[in-house]
Formats: sequence, C-alpha cells, structure tokens
Amino acid sequence: MADNKGVMIFTEVIDGKMAPIAKELLGAGRKLANDLGEELSALVAGTGVAKIAAEAIALGADKVYVVDSPLLKDYRTDSYVAVLEKVVKQVSPRMLLMGQTNIGRDLAPRAAAKLATAAVLDCIALEIDAATKQLLLTKPVYGGNARAIYTMETLPQMATVRAKAMTAPVPDSARKGAVIVVDAGLDAAAIKTNVLQKVVHEAEGIRLEDASVVVAGGRGIGGPDGFKQLEELAKVLKGAVGATRPPCDAGWITDTVQIGLTGKIVSPNVYIAVAISGASQHLAGCSGAKNIIAINRDAEATIFKEARFGVVGDWKKIVPAFQAKIKELQSK
Ligand SMILES: Cc1cc2nc3c(=O)[nH]c(=O)nc-3n(C[C@H](O)[C@H](O)[C@H](O)COP(=O)(O)OP(=O)(O)OC[C@H]3O[C@@H](n4cnc5c(N)ncnc54)[C@H](O)[C@@H]3O)c2cc1C
Repeated sequence: MADNKGVMIFTEVIDGKMAPIAKELLGAGRKLANDLGEELSALVAGTGVAKIAAEAIALGADKVYVVDSPLLKDYRTDSYVAVLEKVVKQVSPRMLLMGQTNIGRDLAPRAAAKLATAAVLDCIALEIDAATKQLLLTKPVYGGNARAIYTMETLPQMATVRAKAMTAPVPDSARKGAVIVVDAGLDAAAIKTNVLQKVVHEAEGIRLEDASVVVAGGRGIGGPDGFKQLEELAKVLKGAVGATRPPCDAGWITDTVQIGLTGKIVSPNVYIAVAISGASQHLAGCSGAKNIIAINRDAEATIFKEARFGVVGDWKKIVPAFQAKIKELQSK
C-alpha cells in the first residue's frame, strides 16, 4: 500500500457531458496533487465518453483513464463498482474523490468496501497534512451545527465532496495530458440490475443544486400561491426555488426541492430564507451557502443566527418590495 501515489477523480457524466461537480473536483484535486507533488488523474466511465478526456486535461488532469462500454450506458451499481475497483487497483492512487451526488453516495461506500478502505462522505473541505501526507477531510456533523475533521489510515483515502464546496478551474486548452483507454472487462451476465425506464423530472429554469441564488420558502409561506411569488423572485434573480419540509409534505411544492437533512444539500452564493425558522434539519442542507438572507416576522427565529443579513417582518410585504427594487436596479 505504500506505493499508492497521486489523486484520482471519479468524473461523473450527465447526458454525455461532464457534470459540474466533476469540474469542481478537478480544481480541488489539482490543488491536492500540487501540494503532494504528485499526479492528478481522472477516471471517465460511460458510453461514448472518450471526448470528455480532453476537457478533463484542460481542467487540470495529468492522466485520464477512459472506460467506454455499452454496459456503462446507465449508472448501475454492479458495473460501476467493478470498473472503479479495476482502475483503482491498476493505478493505486493515494486519494480518490467523487461527488456527493446520488451516484457518489451509492458508489463510494461500496467501492471502499471492495478496496478494503474507508470513505468519508459529504466533505466540504480537503487539505493535506504536510507532515504525514494524509488527507484531512472536513464535513458538517450534528445536523450542520458543527464541523469535524477526519482522516484515515487505509489507502486510497476516499471522499465524496459536496457540490459548490470547491471552485471549478478555468479550462486551459493548452494543457497536455495522457489518455489511457482501459477495457471495462464487464460480463453482462454478472450485472444483476437492468434499467427499464427513466423518468425525467422536467423543471423550468436552473437546477436547484447548480443555482447561485436560491429562494427558499418555509411553512410561513402559507400555501402554493406564496410559492408562485417566490418563483417570480427567483426568476428575477436567475435563481431556483427551494423549500423546507413542511411545504413539501403539504404538497404546496414538489418534494424534489426540499432542502435539508432528508432533502437536497445546496451551497449557493446567496440563500434567501423566507418564513423559515431555521431548524437544524433544514440548516444541514443550506449551511454551506456563502450568504444567508433571512426574512422572518419573528425577530427571535434561529435563522437570524445563521444569516448574514436579516429582515424582520411579514414576507408578503418584504418580498414584493425587494423584487421591485431589484427590477428597478436591473433596468438601470
Ligand atoms: C428526522 C428529521 C428530518 C428532517 N428533515 C428535514 C429536512 O430535510 N428539511 C427541512 O426543512 N426540515 C426537516 N425536518 C423538519 C424540521 O425539524 C423542521 O420542522 C422544519 O425545517 C421547519 O420548517 P419551517 O422553518 O418551514 O417551519 P416552522 O418551523 O414552522 O417555521 C415557520 C417560520 O415562518 C415564520 N413566519 C410565519 N409567517 C410569516 C410571515 N407572514 N412572514 C415572515 N415570516 C413568517 C415564523 O415566524 C416561523 O419562524 C426534519 C425533521 C426530522 C425529525
């Protein structure tokens, strides 16, 4: 195990394109590799994914391992775990990073078990301990109320990283790197699951996880009509709408936009929390936001402790006034 070297990124692909989280990981991985004085490699797996290799190099990879197979068309646990295990055993990286996405959350623990190592999920900061070359992994704990730093003795050190916790680098098309094609070596008969149907959730506008502005509503919004007003505000700000659990449970808005411990985790630049009390289970999903703006009629609401800016008052008066002001400024 002492021979493990370098940092490897699992490059997630969505609809044939590199996922935004993979770009962020390449930025983070490049920095870690530089700190170690070692290589950054990217593993790209899927069908028709060879074209992604050049992009990974432009974003910082020194080597790209491409595994292209019809059996990798859809994400299936069996096939992707097998490919990851094969490539990692061949390359022996010191560190292996993937996104804290549905795929990353499924893949990382299973691959870690196969590789007899450990994985720390949902990290928001990664650093190298200069003395030991160990990866120090920071993640929120206790429902987002505290942060813990982990490390592990086994190799490769594996982590999933939260979206928007790292910054994607500016691509440099002049960068040079090596592309290594690896045979998937998959046996179709050994893959126990089959994808019969994909149901795409059609959402207008920007994806919640990718939005740099999120306008989130809580129970105090009072019903579906209130969420329509928040959608208007989000549109003006080129952002997306999110919600706490009560409005989703009540059917005021789709539960795919629930943010929190049992919902999505977002890290936008601006998070506008409208009529949200600030329960720890909700904050677990938004505490990574760079700036929280709270609008609540209760001056004692917990959300104000987390917020950088706050307005005490009835959202029904504040939101339309705020929206009108933004439109006025945008028209200048
Ligand atoms: C295991 C578990 C998992 C959970 N997972 C999640 C999760 O993933 N996400 C999540 O959000 N919750 C989750 N919850 C629920 C969580 O504990 C809270 O109950 C929830 O977050 C509260 O939502 P809220 O802030 O919208 O509602 P409330 O706590 O009821 O707060 C409503 C707020 O609106 C304000 N308000 C009311 N009217 C107005 C007005 N007109 N103008 C301005 N302000 C107004 C009130 O002052 C109040 O602060 C979970 C709970 C458990 C036990």
